[in-house]
Amino acid sequence: MKVLCILYSGGNAAKEEPRLLGTIENELGLREYLEAQGHEFLVSDDKEGEDSFFQKHIVDAEVLITTPFHPGYLTADLFKKAKNLKICITAGVGSDHIDLNAAIEHGVEVLEVSGSNVVSVAEHVMMNILLLVRNFVPAHEMIERGDWQVSEVARNAFDLEGKVIGTIGAGRIGYRVLQRLVPFNPKELIYYDYAALPEEASKAVNARRVEDLKEFVSQCDIITVNAPLHEGTRNLVNAELLSHFKKGAWLVNTARGAICDKDAVAAALKSGQLRGYAGDVWDQQPAPRDHVWRTMKNPLGGGNGMVPHYSGTTLDAQARYAKGTFQILDNYLKGKEQEPQNVIIGKGSYATKAYGQR
Ligand code: NAD
Repeated sequence: MKVLCILYSGGNAAKEEPRLLGTIENELGLREYLEAQGHEFLVSDDKEGEDSFFQKHIVDAEVLITTPFHPGYLTADLFKKAKNLKICITAGVGSDHIDLNAAIEHGVEVLEVSGSNVVSVAEHVMMNILLLVRNFVPAHEMIERGDWQVSEVARNAFDLEGKVIGTIGAGRIGYRVLQRLVPFNPKELIYYDYAALPEEASKAVNARRVEDLKEFVSQCDIITVNAPLHEGTRNLVNAELLSHFKKGAWLVNTARGAICDKDAVAAALKSGQLRGYAGDVWDQQPAPRDHVWRTMKNPLGGGNGMVPHYSGTTLDAQARYAKGTFQILDNYLKGKEQEPQNVIIGKGSYATKAYGQR
């Protein structure tokens, strides 16, 4: 059996830090296990274009393992060439790099390690909210420059207490964010999700559901995006929706870059319609050097909290998703039942309700 695995290159860091399991150097710790059973295990970070390692080997691989941090984009066209493919495993959470409708058409199962990095991301969201609201990045940059002008950073710094904070998507991550916000004494916590939270859960965080998206965004001082990328969320935060945001709201997106319109976000930040935008996910990964989100700023020269995609790949998270990937692979090889929560596409249909209403 041929197992193809697309991961990011870890360079020196991965040689020095073996816990960087999700790298081409440390191979999710799977090589010995697979080779001992006589399987072929091919690992690379080379994934773009027809001549890439990914596209060359997908034609006869039975298993594809890839990660949202450096995704091998498995398009409908590539599915046609992947004649031998039976199962795609996402080492992490979020399988939008796979054309899920094409997976159904070709009878390929798609699984991810649900829950493996949801705390890691929720913590990153908290950090992003705080660094935007408190205007942290420009304040730190000022210190590195050798300057000291308190008013220049204080003029755009606020408290989190007393704000209305909303999440688009109140699943594993969104709910954990709501839980973590409670002790900050927000004015109100609200959420937008076609799936209502169970009553007990919404009571526990005192969160109100708003069913109309425009109404929802117009009430929020801070919005955090925690929904998967699918047909219903691609480009959801576009110029039209941004025009319904409160002027000067902050937006945090650690879900998927393509949920927000790249240029509309940059324009809203530039005009001051958004006071800040932070996150770690990009419409294309790695993001091109000239991607507008790298350097966009608000009118006061701040409001950008962008980093590379790493919120869900802390060393703690890597241990969990490497273990989960092994478990899914081992179940597959032994013909055992998979954990239902990990199945995104089962035999011929969506097994999850999180990738859109259908
Ligand atoms: P989850 O399945 O537990 O929850 C997703 C929630 O989004 C569900 O409640 C679903 O009903 C809701 N949803 C779906 N479509 C929606 C829509 N159109 N509008 C509003 N809500 C909608 O998933 P999760 O574990 O919370 O993860 C959410 C997403 O976060 C993942 O799919 C992934 O894209 C992203 N993620 C990012 C990182 C990272 O490192 N940045 C890591 C993990 C996950």
